[in-house]
Amino acid sequence: MSKKRIVTGDRPTGRLHIGHYFGSLKSRVEMQEKGEYEPYILVADVQALTDNFNNPEKVRNNVREVVMDYLSIGIDPKKTTIYIQSLIPETAELTVFYSNLVTIARLERNPTVKTEIAQKRDLFGESVTYGFLGYPVSQAADITAMDGTLIPVGEDQLPLIEQCREIVRKFNSIYGEVLKEPEAVLSEGKRIKGLDGNEKMGKSLGNAIYLSDPEEVVNKKVMSAKTDPNRIKKDDLGNPDICMVYYYHKLFSTDEECKAVCKECKEGKRGCVACKKQLAKNINSTLEPIREKRKYYEERPELIDDILKKGTEKARKTAKETMKKVKKAMMLDYFE
Ligand code: SF4
Repeated sequence: MSKKRIVTGDRPTGRLHIGHYFGSLKSRVEMQEKGEYEPYILVADVQALTDNFNNPEKVRNNVREVVMDYLSIGIDPKKTTIYIQSLIPETAELTVFYSNLVTIARLERNPTVKTEIAQKRDLFGESVTYGFLGYPVSQAADITAMDGTLIPVGEDQLPLIEQCREIVRKFNSIYGEVLKEPEAVLSEGKRIKGLDGNEKMGKSLGNAIYLSDPEEVVNKKVMSAKTDPNRIKKDDLGNPDICMVYYYHKLFSTDEECKAVCKECKEGKRGCVACKKQLAKNINSTLEPIREKRKYYEERPELIDDILKKGTEKARKTAKETMKKVKKAMMLDYFE
């Protein structure tokens, strides 16, 4: 039986942080190691340009950064194909074909797109670009070009996969059964709050700890994390459930440590500074092997290029096979 092909990806707009790690990266490594799947990861530079069209340097500079993050957390290019979206022109072609199968009203109703447009008012004002509104169409092209059958996503991304499935069904009903309808699987990852307690961790919010942050930066950031505001003195009785330090202890510290933090905080027997120092130490020991591996790749950029070239070559081959079937079905296979 052939392995299920998984397609995932990230927009290269910045280095990856622990929110990405717990949200999707960790489960990508786990799925890769199961050996039951054939994972593809796309570095979505074209998609990144939909809301960074005026800043191509940012996208370009972050392609390698994101790939180094992947490799440093254990994505293995021998098991996972890592490739650059813009080097697969077939996905751009498919996007054009699929754009006939989606209405503007349907795109405007997509809840994920609606939320993102609202968050990007600064960039778009009242009038969103055709490219941004249509990115679910290009995402459908990314998935189907690779014959993706399994797409791990967070709950907020489910409408994008539903949109892709609708496109596939419409295509197949008009041109014949050519495309595979992908299945969304809810990623086992969780959404991680920012250091300030914001529901989202992100660069623009200034509340993220990056996988590549050096030890002293992690220490400083942890010191700035939001704690129980009612705790002024060490012997004030605290509420760890409203403290971001405890929230991160639950991610990085042992059960025993967490129990002690909770108990001592509630009893007013723990100082916040000591509590933060302990957390920073635990985060640093998790990040240390990741930083070391990253350093190895930082010193060898030619390895990154090689991984990307090989991954892109393989992905392109897959996309060409899909395109051949698509063009035949659409009667666009002139002179073949
Ligand atoms: Fe938070 Fe720890 Fe301070 Fe309690 S003691 S409020 S858990 S930092």
